[in-house]
Amino acid sequence: MLGGHIDSWDVGQGAMDDGGGSVAAWEAVRLMHALGLRPRRTVRVVLWTNEENGLRGALTYRDTHRDEIDNHVLAIESDAGVFKPLGFGFGGSDAAYEIVGEIGTLLDRIGAATVTQGGGGADIGPLMREGVPGMGLRVDGEKYFWYHHTEADTIDKLDPLEMARCVAAMAVMGYVVADLPERLPR
Ligand SMILES: [Zn+2]
Repeated sequence: MLGGHIDSWDVGQGAMDDGGGSVAAWEAVRLMHALGLRPRRTVRVVLWTNEENGLRGALTYRDTHRDEIDNHVLAIESDAGVFKPLGFGFGGSDAAYEIVGEIGTLLDRIGAATVTQGGGGADIGPLMREGVPGMGLRVDGEKYFWYHHTEADTIDKLDPLEMARCVAAMAVMGYVVADLPERLPR
């Protein structure tokens, strides 16, 4: 699963928080499709509603899909802005961390190879508490709080190259995990 949250704070446009993250998840899957890549497992994009005041979308997804939770191999969230990607923060077992760390090295060319231990995100939190491994896209956070929840969070702040790299990071991690011969261990 790849996703971001579609709602935003009620000022600005929510371009960084979290329109950019939502589009990055969407574009990652569009990219797989455009390249004719068909992984062994389904890649699902979820654009979460109501992250900002109560996580109702995340909680409703968990409750609606409760019977399928065991089939969720990994939940990846982008909710730190679509700045220069650095890698991912991973929340899951040591055995899984070793595997996603190795996959991360594929992103060395764009400087996004580092998978750190510990991570996740608000919207995937309810799934992670049910045992689903989770991952948050890590980006250069220097400017995030210049824009976060302010009138300045507008689409002109998105850098197309940084955005494209975020998409690439989400696509590579999402595709390779979905296509592993054996599912990522819990
Ligand atoms: Zn957010």
